[in-house]
Amino acid sequence: MADLPPPSLRLRLDIDALAHNWRTLDTMSRPARAGAAVKADCYGLGVSSCVPVLRDVGCRDFFVAHWSEVPAVLNHVPPEHLSVLHGPRSTEEAAYARSTGVRPVIDSLRQAKLWAESGGGACHLMVDTGINRLGLSPDELTDPAVQALDVQVIMSHLACADEDSAMNARQLERFRAALPLVRHAQASLANSAGVALGNDYHFDLTRPGLALYGGVPRPEFAGRIRQVASPEAAIIQTRRIGAGESVGYNATFTAPADMRIGVVSLGYADGILRSWSGAHFVHGQSRLSILGKVSMDMIVIGLSDAPDIGEGDWVELPYNLPDAAQQTALSQYELLTVLGQRLKH
Ligand SMILES: *Cc1c(COP(=O)(O)O)cnc(C)c1O
Repeated sequence: MADLPPPSLRLRLDIDALAHNWRTLDTMSRPARAGAAVKADCYGLGVSSCVPVLRDVGCRDFFVAHWSEVPAVLNHVPPEHLSVLHGPRSTEEAAYARSTGVRPVIDSLRQAKLWAESGGGACHLMVDTGINRLGLSPDELTDPAVQALDVQVIMSHLACADEDSAMNARQLERFRAALPLVRHAQASLANSAGVALGNDYHFDLTRPGLALYGGVPRPEFAGRIRQVASPEAAIIQTRRIGAGESVGYNATFTAPADMRIGVVSLGYADGILRSWSGAHFVHGQSRLSILGKVSMDMIVIGLSDAPDIGEGDWVELPYNLPDAAQQTALSQYELLTVLGQRLKH
């Protein structure tokens, strides 16, 4: 059988930028060290592309949410460097943690008991200091089931680190109060945004995710964090339309004059949602406006100002995350994790 031909869309990853971003976050975290949240397939950018880069630049602490995410990461890092944030929810998950050597994050009294009953061993402990998501409440920490745990890293998660909110200091205070209640080797509080809140928030280990992949959750990161991901696609057809003709579903764009247009091989099935309508692609110095609605597999752009661009040429969707978030009203997190599988082949 013939080889599969190359695709007409791709996600270009700037691996040097990824390495730079981890180093920047690690330096900003000092004297603590930076880990890496690699859940959701490295926020959609691909474990196999990103984890080896993070490992080689010096990262030793990796976090996923689900046990299903473990095998892909274990292809690249030793099990004791990987933690599962959702913790052991069943005896099967506890047994899997023990047999692989991956560290569970204990999130509740039930999980603490389940982990001990399955044989226990080194684990992490999540304390809820106000986000009211996963984690033990501070008043549960004196329970014998918690006291019996072999806690490597005690952690908590900030709800408002991307804002100048009084919540940050409140959570810091609650976390500090929790630390003497449980024997532990190390402590960790900050996500990406928390790294910029200063030394008080760093403890022994920080857990950035978004900023590794080019997100800028606080102004302190502007100019220090580099863009990592760029969606690119080929123009697969061009055509000329006359004044008064419309483009795309529901005919939402009407040509004001004769114009040349191009069909880009990228759509909402690839994660370029309809909220991109009204934005533009780029090709060299040319800005190419998106015309009409985004379709599942296609986006139509104007080519009148770019006579040299034609079928087979590639265009790029500007994916600077803070700018793109403003453009689309999606969060920087959503812009990364929504990117579709066809972009990654
Ligand atoms: C996702 C996650 C992180 C990383 O957060 P960012 O805001 O992406 O830096 C850190 N800690 C926990 C517990 C998480 O769930």
